[in-house]
Amino acid sequence: MNDTTRTKRQGAVKQITSHSNPIVKEIKALVSQRKYRTQSGLFVAEGLKLATDALDAGWEVRYLVLGPDARDHPVAQKAAATAKARGALILEVNTAVLAAMTRKDNPQMVVGVYEQKLMPIDSIRPQDSTVWVALDRVRDPGNLGTIIRTVDAVGASGIILVGDCTDPFAVETVRATMGSLFHVPIVKTGKDRFKSLATAWPGTVAATHLKGSVDYRQPDYSEPVLLVMGNEQQGLEDDMAEVCKTLIRIPQVGEADSLNLAVATGISLYEIRRKHLAL
Ligand code: SAM
Repeated sequence: MNDTTRTKRQGAVKQITSHSNPIVKEIKALVSQRKYRTQSGLFVAEGLKLATDALDAGWEVRYLVLGPDARDHPVAQKAAATAKARGALILEVNTAVLAAMTRKDNPQMVVGVYEQKLMPIDSIRPQDSTVWVALDRVRDPGNLGTIIRTVDAVGASGIILVGDCTDPFAVETVRATMGSLFHVPIVKTGKDRFKSLATAWPGTVAATHLKGSVDYRQPDYSEPVLLVMGNEQQGLEDDMAEVCKTLIRIPQVGEADSLNLAVATGISLYEIRRKHLAL
């Protein structure tokens, strides 16, 4: 047995060289299985930047895995010291173990395992300067990650995932957020609860829709704003569209039948924020 634990105070440092170590298996399962992420309430984020973002934003870190390149890296060592002081287990591994954990040939030098955090829908307070983005059954992790990043960039309030959505804590989603996951509140809810929220919403409820009759530059987007986006394949369900006061359309001139969901969200959000903040 090569695995050794050096200290037990606060967090600890452990060396792992065996692929069959239970923590290696646990991290592999977190990378590949949504069911395991949901059961454990944990998720994996790759890279030193994301580790720094997570720690700075106060997220709970369970494990911080350091590959050989992180041993003499001052920023990685600082992140490890912070994580350890907060009770995390620091795992020192070789490149082969790191690659096996993350299922990548060229893994990042640092990999973190964090506790998931979602905001309950009842905590949403629609008030001035609030801009929430609701996504109806978003399926693509890259789209969701890009939208989380864009919501962060424009300083919007957060994201509401409605119905059966892709996992915000999947590795691909987390990667596409480029660290914004740690700064953007995320709510998960069912369609009926969302429809009640939208019906009672005091300001603008605008859905982007290919059959929208209003050019997206036209509304004044009085705050608070709820921007609603449809599913990649099917668009927005009819009963969801019915609870939205305005259906907005982004004009197109070429042959494409629609814009990519994340692109349409970005265009709409920048228009809304341009009206409020002159972004
Ligand atoms: N076939 C789908 C449909 O009929 O709606 C296309 C969905 S599109 C890829 C995904 C979402 O992006 C749409 O539901 C809508 O919210 C938004 N979207 C894309 N292009 C748009 C446009 N030109 N105007 C308004 N919304 C758009």
